[in-house]
Amino acid sequence: MNLFVLMKRTFDTEEKIVIETGKIQDDGAEWIINPYDEYAIEEAIQLKEKHGGTITAVTVGGEEAEKELRTALAMGCDQAVLINIEDLEEPDQYSISQVLYHYLKNQEFDLILGGNVAIDGGSGQVAPRLAELLDIPCITTITKLEINGTDAEAERDVEGDVEKIKTTLPLLVTAQQGLNEPRYPSLPGIMKAKKKPLEELELDDLDLDEEDAEPKLKTIERFLPPKKEAGKLLQGEPAEQAKELVSLLRSEAKVI
Ligand SMILES: Cc1cc2nc3c(=O)[nH]c(=O)nc-3n(C[C@H](O)[C@H](O)[C@H](O)COP(=O)(O)OP(=O)(O)OC[C@H]3O[C@@H](n4cnc5c(N)ncnc54)[C@H](O)[C@@H]3O)c2cc1C
Repeated sequence: MNLFVLMKRTFDTEEKIVIETGKIQDDGAEWIINPYDEYAIEEAIQLKEKHGGTITAVTVGGEEAEKELRTALAMGCDQAVLINIEDLEEPDQYSISQVLYHYLKNQEFDLILGGNVAIDGGSGQVAPRLAELLDIPCITTITKLEINGTDAEAERDVEGDVEKIKTTLPLLVTAQQGLNEPRYPSLPGIMKAKKKPLEELELDDLDLDEEDAEPKLKTIERFLPPKKEAGKLLQGEPAEQAKELVSLLRSEAKVI
């Protein structure tokens, strides 16, 4: 099987976000593989263990994403591709899916696995947009996947319920928590990863003009939620406290 994993480099979830002049400051931030993409990588590895094949991890980003691609190789991917988009200004979901499309349309693939959502951008758009461009079926938020020849059966999470879906390859799926338990890279895996192929491509290599990947969206403003004020501790007997609470809800919070 030819398996491709769409992998995004994101802020660590523990990272405190700082916004200056409308931009997110990422100096000194810790970066990780988008957690949902780790499920996608793990699923690709398990499918390869069952059916054989090759796994290619693909990232659209800057040169620094090489570190996370090496981690994907250490987990068990066979090769990696970094599509460098440093020339693109403020890429959006349209830009990223166009870039991925121009790369993947020239590849032979059976299955493309992505994350259900990126924990930073959070739009959940890139993978379904890519499936649409490639004109292949797409199943989002999967929690189970079985491949039998060219048939695929998946279970997807729908707000706590399970939906069972049948389709055929080539297919794109996005991973939801519960699909598997992503493995940690082993020491031999880390050593092997250093020698695995990591190809770096530019937009020119994909025959993609900058204009064709120009964003359709412009972010007008970014801001953090207002700081929470300190809570008020009411004193006295329960009846007095209840009286004061009602009075505060009426006069200060103005909710009753
Ligand atoms: C180098 C770079 C510069 C950026 N600069 C700006 C900017 O200036 N202004 C701005 O508003 N936004 C910027 N972005 C953010 C960009 O618009 C979003 O990353 C992109 O639109 C994806 O949307 P999302 O994060 O909501 O991903 P989602 O659609 O939520 O991601 C879902 C899944 O799609 C796949 N995927 C998503 N992104 C990638 C990727 N890059 N490579 C491979 N697979 C991917 C993954 O499998 C992921 O789990 C930048 C992103 C990059 C990589």
